[in-house]
Amino acid sequence: MELNQLVNNEIMDSCTTRIDAYLSPHPCDEDTIFHEDDLKWIPGFDDTDDADGLGVAFNENNLALYDSIAQLTMQKVEAAFGNLSVLFNEHIIKDIFVRIDLYGLSGSDTALAGYNYNASRPHAGSYQFTADKLLLEKYILNEQFNSSDKFCYVWEHEFLHMLDYRLLEKTAVFRESKLDDDQFKCYLLKYREEGFAELYYLLQGNYDTVNSVEQAQNKFLSLVNKVNDFRAEHLVFPRGVYDCYDFYSVGPWLLLDMLRTFEGMFHQEMIDEAIVMVKEKKALDKEKIFEIITIALRIDVRFFLEYCNSLINNVSNHNL
Ligand SMILES: [Zn+2]
Repeated sequence: MELNQLVNNEIMDSCTTRIDAYLSPHPCDEDTIFHEDDLKWIPGFDDTDDADGLGVAFNENNLALYDSIAQLTMQKVEAAFGNLSVLFNEHIIKDIFVRIDLYGLSGSDTALAGYNYNASRPHAGSYQFTADKLLLEKYILNEQFNSSDKFCYVWEHEFLHMLDYRLLEKTAVFRESKLDDDQFKCYLLKYREEGFAELYYLLQGNYDTVNSVEQAQNKFLSLVNKVNDFRAEHLVFPRGVYDCYDFYSVGPWLLLDMLRTFEGMFHQEMIDEAIVMVKEKKALDKEKIFEIITIALRIDVRFFLEYCNSLINNVSNHNL
């Protein structure tokens, strides 16, 4: 092989992404301690056939079932990755590992999937995710969803978190802090974090409870009020406020609003048009969606917190 060819191959290798979805722990792992009951939630789990006397978890039907769960998850992750591939052009993504949480170790009854910020190494191009029981159940049952269902965009949501790792790095600093003010910033930044990850869903012409910037701002302000009431009563920032899941419905609208004035109001016209489309539940062109997401990725901590503060201060000034 000629040198040119070698160099070209090397460049191509560095651009290809390896995606792997695997059960962890896998029932067949030697050191896995589990109870068969932990697996009985799996639709199609065969708890009758124990021909080898090793326990039903190891019968052929169930071994095939584990394989098909990994295959199905892989297909969905690959499809979403392909769907967003334009957004990944500027990044070198070497590995994507999806840990399939068959035993429900995450302990969440509502989570579908997660981007594991702590276990990922963005600077090495290596990213880790988790697929939760609830999501797997839907895959196995092959439930049919229409395109307005959030479930269809689970991996797009998580991949946007992956792209947003710089913001997550900065938010982590506030999260580690014991200062009440930092914890409050961390709370506010959750609207940026989840709002960004929800942009793909929203710009496809979907929304659930919040359907305008005004509604989002009002909801945001009433939630901040609630949080501030909590803060007044507690010495330590109350973790309970994270139980509120409105970050997802409010966040993307706040981002659209701030994009109007972002970077010298350069994007205002495009964003106003996008808002009209979404309100009518119409999907934007893919190209436009990716353009808006690329711009929104540049909204940093400082710009976002300034926006939040101006909303909060405006209200308190009016109330004076
Ligand atoms: Zn999220």
